[in-house]
Amino acid sequence: MSNNNDYRQIIKQTKEYLRYLNDIGVKEIPYEKSKVKSQKSKVKDEETNNIKPTLESIKEELGDCKRCKLHKTRTNIVFGVGNPNAKLMFVGEGPGEDEDLQAEPFVGRAGQLLTKIIEAMGLKRSDVYIANVVKCRPPENRNPEPDEISECRPFLEKQIDAIKPEIIVVLGNHAAQTLLNTASGITKIRGQFFYYKDNIKVMPTFHPSYLLRNESKKKEVWEDMQKVMAELGLKIDAKK
Ligand code: SF4
Repeated sequence: MSNNNDYRQIIKQTKEYLRYLNDIGVKEIPYEKSKVKSQKSKVKDEETNNIKPTLESIKEELGDCKRCKLHKTRTNIVFGVGNPNAKLMFVGEGPGEDEDLQAEPFVGRAGQLLTKIIEAMGLKRSDVYIANVVKCRPPENRNPEPDEISECRPFLEKQIDAIKPEIIVVLGNHAAQTLLNTASGITKIRGQFFYYKDNIKVMPTFHPSYLLRNESKKKEVWEDMQKVMAELGLKIDAKK
């Protein structure tokens, strides 16, 4: 009973106080916003305070992305997979059918070949990080278009910033041209180190799907990987 009286008293006093505020011209009462920050404000904080995004925060920012038209035909966004502290990163051009269905990059036939290449280097898939220039499958496996690449590229760049690899192997024309801002074809630039943002070495080489159609090019890719292994201080088995 006394509780009810207390509540009535509080309500009465609050009403009187609100009436008083109204009389003196206060039309709005400021309130403390929720301390639980929205993802949007977290991203803004990261930008303004220069806080390094993590793979998790990048994934949250990407969300159910509809920034380019590829979202209309995808099954899944293929974000990337592997060691968040990898010294070595592989970047391809975009997911294919298997990747789109499994939400993981390089899991189809070309992916199995990439896994063999990684293992031949003395590493496991889980030692490296694998991503693509675009995270949604282009319909009929067509090449990603410039507007799609420019919408998706910032997320790949953030992933690279978060992982800070020592070397990025770019697989095929689109990945090489996107990361190195060049119009040169892969045949011309493969096998040489370039730089991404002045401090990360980039080795362009043929895409594994190209190797499936051109077996003879495997030798060149292995030569390129040996250069990468030498840079990373990995033991090179000359017999491979
Ligand atoms: S390709 Fe990239 S930018 Fe386009 S919808 Fe997918 S995640 Fe978004």
